[in-house]
Amino acid sequence: TATHQGSTAPTHEAPTGATTTAEPEAADTPALATALAQLKLAAEHLELPDGLQANLATPRREMSVSVPLRRDDGDTVVFHGYRVQHNFTRGPGKGGLRYAPGVDADEVRALAMLMTWKCAIVELPFGGAKGGVSIDPREFSRSELERVTRRYTSEIMPIIGPDRDIMAPDVGTDEQTMAWVLDTYSVASGHTVPAVVTGKPLNLGGSVGRPTATSRGVVHATRAALHERGEHLAGTRVAIQGFGKVGGHAAAIFAAEGAVVVAVSDQYGAIRNDTGLDVARLVEHVAATGSVVGFDEADPITGDELLAADVDVLVPAAVEGVLNAQTAQTVRASLVVEGANGPTTLEGDAVLHSRGVTVVPDILANAGGVVVSYFEWVQANQAYWWNDDEVEEKLERRMRSAYAKVSDRARRDGLTLRDAALVIGVGRVAAAHTARGLYP
Ligand code: GLU
Repeated sequence: TATHQGSTAPTHEAPTGATTTAEPEAADTPALATALAQLKLAAEHLELPDGLQANLATPRREMSVSVPLRRDDGDTVVFHGYRVQHNFTRGPGKGGLRYAPGVDADEVRALAMLMTWKCAIVELPFGGAKGGVSIDPREFSRSELERVTRRYTSEIMPIIGPDRDIMAPDVGTDEQTMAWVLDTYSVASGHTVPAVVTGKPLNLGGSVGRPTATSRGVVHATRAALHERGEHLAGTRVAIQGFGKVGGHAAAIFAAEGAVVVAVSDQYGAIRNDTGLDVARLVEHVAATGSVVGFDEADPITGDELLAADVDVLVPAAVEGVLNAQTAQTVRASLVVEGANGPTTLEGDAVLHSRGVTVVPDILANAGGVVVSYFEWVQANQAYWWNDDEVEEKLERRMRSAYAKVSDRARRDGLTLRDAALVIGVGRVAAAHTARGLYP
């Protein structure tokens, strides 16, 4: 296992992107090593000087905190919390806060680095950051989660703020979590600071369209990728892994656009209906039972069968590392659109590429969320809010333009979409570093 302590200077290890299938038992490269390998590939393509590469590989600032929680029964348990600010050369840090059992420093470092490139690709004036707490939110009461959130916020208070680092929801957190962060920060500041978080409730200065923004961005990216092949969303068969904040809304939007959603999954199981799931009815089922499992208009399948579903488009919209050396061999979709962050490992990526599967990478495909986070931050800063149409029109324009630039670069330089997106994102951040110079 790779224990990249913080980030070392780029190493001279195995070349990236060209790896062939790993041994079946071999674990794939962990998230941080993958992110560093991707950076190295882009930096070499851009011929960046070694010192600049090392700078981009190293988080600008990170904070590791203990988060003690007094449980409802009076006992105390302690979690680990992190906030990593990978880069703020182009603007304040931006990125989600994740609550998940396995969260560790390296995972947060990897995700923070992805946020830096993502914000640069969609031309937001932000750097990249990410936070995490090693807690399984499903096992704690609402008031326990409130105390965890407030204690974590209070610990990292010195390094966050509307001009320093702005949080948003991610896996295991939601708009209520953001409301608690906002309140804790605001009470300590002595005045309300709506722009310290995005993805907050509308009645606290949230933006219309933020809850569905990531999913709408995924659909815009899919449409753009299909158009390049002369295809359309109508009639396109889609499988979606994950039925949460990203996958659930994406299923509904794909269906509304005339695509046929044939299979979906969540952490409890997966279902399929070859004639197309009635997503509105499925949403009702999930609201009533908490899972897609048991939906009476579909057949149960396994999670692996979902990844291997006979569809045109596969949308992994759950967690990291699911398309690995093994599962990538089974993918039958010709297009993978990454709704999750880091769903494809380095090895899985090489397998998909060698099998001719096009991958629209996370840092482009799921950027709609942070794009509307930026709109929310702008609206909160100017204390003037836009309507649905304005948000949607601006989101679509930005996603289209980012997709077109990535696709042009891929064609021009003979790169995959992922490598082209990285080259653009890393290139913009590198250019900002160069323009600012090194202090002192
Ligand atoms: N957590 C989301 C992401 O990974 C949104 C981040 C944000 O809006 O700051 O892109």
